[in-house]
Amino acid sequence: MIKTLDIAAVRADFPILHQEVNGKPLVYFDNGATTQKPQVVIDAMAAYYNKTNANVHRGVHTLSQLATDQFEASRETVRAHINAASTKEIIFTKGTTESINLVAQCFDGFVEKGDNIIISAIEHHSNIVPWQMLAARTGAELRIITANNAGELEMDVFDEILDSRTKMVAVNHISNALGTLNPVEEFIAKAHKFGAAVFIDGAQSVPHMHINVQDLDADFFAFSAHKVYGPTGVGVLYGKESWLNKLPPYQFGGEMIKEVTLQKSTWADLPHKFEAGTPHIEGVVGLKPALDYINKIGVEDIAAYEHELLEYGTEKLLQIDGLRIIGTAAKKASLISFVVDGTHPYDIGMILDKLGVAVRTGHHCAQPVMARFDIPGTVRASFSFYNTKEEIDILVAGVERAVKMLR
Ligand SMILES: *Cc1c(COP(=O)(O)O)cnc(C)c1O
Repeated sequence: MIKTLDIAAVRADFPILHQEVNGKPLVYFDNGATTQKPQVVIDAMAAYYNKTNANVHRGVHTLSQLATDQFEASRETVRAHINAASTKEIIFTKGTTESINLVAQCFDGFVEKGDNIIISAIEHHSNIVPWQMLAARTGAELRIITANNAGELEMDVFDEILDSRTKMVAVNHISNALGTLNPVEEFIAKAHKFGAAVFIDGAQSVPHMHINVQDLDADFFAFSAHKVYGPTGVGVLYGKESWLNKLPPYQFGGEMIKEVTLQKSTWADLPHKFEAGTPHIEGVVGLKPALDYINKIGVEDIAAYEHELLEYGTEKLLQIDGLRIIGTAAKKASLISFVVDGTHPYDIGMILDKLGVAVRTGHHCAQPVMARFDIPGTVRASFSFYNTKEEIDILVAGVERAVKMLR
């Protein structure tokens, strides 16, 4: 049963939303870049520094044990949130970018010349460049799943390029530039038939939908805390235990070792093998209340409401003369990328900012997507469950005004 969200109550939980920007009430539509933080997250991080601060996994003293407990409680919350089998499979990183780099760096021994790595034409740069570098180091070939005019990945192309020499398939769950929800279950099932590993970039899916990594059967799955109402500087890498045991460590130093002599060392057990050095403790501590918060509201209810915003925004924006939505996939997250004939996205973004409306403009760290659609960039409005239809009306009026000024 989908209940209606109490948006006023939700908005009251986010202090940053209640301010004016350039003399206008803030309308925050840049949730695809980062989300705002509810008071419970801010409070948890302040409480950590006010009461608990100590290094984790080290001291026998009380504060160190409390800090370790909070840190590991967050790992358990993440595990439960994405339904991983074990907390050994949850690695804390500094973000999706580092999670991808970790696996790509550690994958050298699993790829050789003549093998291939598959990515898609609608990836964030952070799910392109690490694989390009892996291919360059190993002599493997980089193959691309192309996208159709709606911004949907072409399954027949995937079927053609996937073969027994494919070692890794790395695709996003939801495109940050287009909003496309990709059929990752199908990619995963097909890739596994050829023995390839699959990495899912879930940076844009975790905030908008329920994730079950065991149902997906992904080998690796990554997301960033800051895009799901948690702090910046913290990310998650999920990896199947069997894979994480096979991969060599990513970085070396304290925390990730079992035993060190001056000549050689052995590695700590999972997950610590991949967590060298003092981690971003207060950030990890802040991720737990963020996930608890969205679970309390209900991820399904969030998704349903955000879908309403998507439909409303799409309908209203399309009434603007010359406006074209880039990314019209049948299955989409609550994100609208658009261009308007005779205007530049940057100019629209500047005028919207003067009206208090925060949108992203440009290539959204996805230059190949812009190349695919032969545009320099888009204006992107990405919605969260704390946004409202009234705010969308302000956006639409703002775009209309900008277009009049610019044409
Ligand atoms: C934001 C984003 C990333 C990178 O996340 P960081 O938090 O900057 O590391 C990767 N992929 C997608 C789809 C994203 O939206």
